Amino acid sequence: MPMPSYNALLDVPNYPADRYASLADRLKRLLATEADLLFIQAEAILALEAVAASIARPGLTAINIITSPYGTYFSAWLRRGGVTVHDVVAEPGQPIELVAVKAAINDLPSLDILAVVHGEAANGALNPIAEIAALARARDALVVVDAVASVGAHPLAIDSLGVDIVAIGPQKALGGPVGLSAVTVSERAWAHIAATPRFSPSILSLLDLKENWLDRGRGVLPGTPPPLDFWALEAAVDRVEAEGIDRLVARHQLAARASRAGLRALGIEPWIRDDHAASALVTAAPVPEGIDAEVLIATAAEFGIALGRGFGDIKDRLVRFDHTGARAAFASVIASVVGYGAALGKLGITVDVGAAAEAVALTYALAIL
Ligand SMILES: *Cc1c(COP(=O)(O)O)cnc(C)c1O
Repeated sequence: MPMPSYNALLDVPNYPADRYASLADRLKRLLATEADLLFIQAEAILALEAVAASIARPGLTAINIITSPYGTYFSAWLRRGGVTVHDVVAEPGQPIELVAVKAAINDLPSLDILAVVHGEAANGALNPIAEIAALARARDALVVVDAVASVGAHPLAIDSLGVDIVAIGPQKALGGPVGLSAVTVSERAWAHIAATPRFSPSILSLLDLKENWLDRGRGVLPGTPPPLDFWALEAAVDRVEAEGIDRLVARHQLAARASRAGLRALGIEPWIRDDHAASALVTAAPVPEGIDAEVLIATAAEFGIALGRGFGDIKDRLVRFDHTGARAAFASVIASVVGYGAALGKLGITVDVGAAAEAVALTYALAIL
């Protein structure tokens, strides 16, 4: 019988335990955190569900900040675990206002958990997590941050902010694979989880991962790591280390700055008006009055430019310029801004495409000097 022929995608070497541990340490170094780092062998949405399942129990009170559908999911998972959840909901597609968070916290006699998304890829909002974390810590609440999208695009000082659990994903700003994710867990978070009813064995249990991997000295792999994803994550970490995380963050910030300068030169105010409240992952641009979002996207596609759709109740009101990972670069940014402007022009909206191109070029020129 002839052997099946070799296939690079199928005949992948296993990802070994020693590399698994050292990859976790390299990620911890990139994040500059002393917290434990656990890999979740699934896309980041499962990491978030695992966090909620692992910290929820009846009798707890949580504030959950909602600035995109991800916040809505987290709320549902906490409630399923018996937590009394108070949602603090932002204006559609906008970051949360700190005053709203303050008011919600002040209304509660006690607060056990506060959950918030850092940077949103869905609408370009950036939440003020430093201020929010400080408010929550002042009430001795466990702070959970969804940094799946923001890691690598915004500074994320996990330990100095005192955030207890952070979920990250490799597939956005880090430019890595989508099939695995990670969470950091502080000492305080482990103490909280230890007081939560066990539900092992479960793919959602952080405690299972702790006992099966951390507490056994990280010598025995917790389950079978998907090798394609782990080798790809290692390659992504190699690339991030080579570039430097600070430079990666700066590259995303520059892409956002240039996108926003380009929009304003077109004569259009970005969807998120305050520069400090805009994420560096995507820049959302408004769909002008009288224009259909689908038609705008289709018109930009005629120029060969892919504009992202909005989500949920803002689906018809914005389009997104994706500048995450490799797209956080001059070529992608200028293409998005000029493509959006050209499409608007074709649809009869007066915009200054030349000025927009110049503004993007100048922003980059000044940064490169
Ligand atoms: C992308 C993203 C996720 C989830 O990522 P999946 O790839 O869909 O699992 C979670 N939270 C935020 C803020 C994200 O941008």
